[in-house]
Amino acid sequence: MFSTDVILIGAGPIGIELAVALKRAGLDYLHIEAHQIGHTMTWWPPGTRWFSSSDRISIAGVPLHTLDQGKATREDYLRYLRAIVEQFDLSIRTYEAVTSVRVDDGEFLVHTATRTHPHTYRAHRVILATGGTARPRSLNVPGAELAHVSHYMQDPHLYFRQRVLVVGGKNSAVESALRLHHAGARVSLSYRGAELPAKTIKYWLYPEIAGLIKSRAITPYFSTVPTQITSSAVTLHSNATREDIEVPADFVLLQIGYVADMTLARMAGVDLQEPGESPAFDPKTMETNVKGLYVAGTAIGGTQEKFGVFMENCHVHVGRIVASLTGQEPPREAKSLLPTEV
Ligand SMILES: Cc1cc2nc3c(=O)[nH]c(=O)nc-3n(C[C@H](O)[C@H](O)[C@H](O)COP(=O)(O)OP(=O)(O)OC[C@H]3O[C@@H](n4cnc5c(N)ncnc54)[C@H](O)[C@@H]3O)c2cc1C
Repeated sequence: MFSTDVILIGAGPIGIELAVALKRAGLDYLHIEAHQIGHTMTWWPPGTRWFSSSDRISIAGVPLHTLDQGKATREDYLRYLRAIVEQFDLSIRTYEAVTSVRVDDGEFLVHTATRTHPHTYRAHRVILATGGTARPRSLNVPGAELAHVSHYMQDPHLYFRQRVLVVGGKNSAVESALRLHHAGARVSLSYRGAELPAKTIKYWLYPEIAGLIKSRAITPYFSTVPTQITSSAVTLHSNATREDIEVPADFVLLQIGYVADMTLARMAGVDLQEPGESPAFDPKTMETNVKGLYVAGTAIGGTQEKFGVFMENCHVHVGRIVASLTGQEPPREAKSLLPTEV
């Protein structure tokens, strides 16, 4: 059985930033990723731009430049992550999912599975950098599993001159509705609220969506929830009028948020707090209530209703964890980073 000092789980931006720091600190570690590096960005719609500026999402001290000096697209960023991995010669076991983490005789026993083989490793310390958006929030209505219904927007070209119902009213839904409209789709928007939450929508998106809704270029169905989806239409129930509305749709795009998968933390004995199963941890070191088990990145927020923990405010976790692993004092900037406080 392979044994190491630290097992790092997850190769999103924060996992990769941690790997560089572990390597620089000379620690013996094993890095495991269930998919390809930067997996979370791979399912963003093509061309999606970060809303954070490049300096806030750059990692390991390596500048992130874009062709037009604008915000990075997901393609820019994935290229950047590949370059970081090559530059620092990071070894990452990709397409290997960690299936369990358990405390065993004062150490951690970590089980994984690749397409072909199960593996077992032992480690003194484990870091969970597993993110907060493992899968989309499900819409439990009949028809949600049909082939033209998806949580992920594909290339906008595919929706040209098609009737698309977008369900949701936050940033992802609004951004998708705008991009689909500009790609020539006929867009409707179903949102459970009586109006869009103007204060939480990105400031460069809201005026445009508000204008297009006002002019009915995008058809709004406020105070509605889908109750059934068929191959050609969606039934929306109006919470305002108590009536059902039939909206024809060739495609249905569900943009109703994502949930974190805190299974590994739970298995290992980490206290998970409601709402959202955010893990209990010491903000000075990022160590959880399980000795030797650390959390980093957006995993600290669990499933977030209102996003307060982003990658851009998680870089500080790296220094705290490496200081704790190497027996140093926590960096000076250490302060509580509980999701409600950022
Ligand atoms: C459309 C969109 C736009 C966004 N824009 C921004 C932005 O502008 N700024 C910002 O700060 N944030 C933004 N975010 C949030 C952003 O996705 C996260 O901030 C960022 O990805 C978090 O990085 P992370 O390393 O914490 O987690 P992730 O990037 O989610 O990485 C977690 C990794 O862990 C792996 N993993 C999970 N479970 C296992 C397992 N059991 N075994 C092995 N590996 C596992 C996953 O495959 C994944 O690669 C955006 C999110 C979305 C959906």
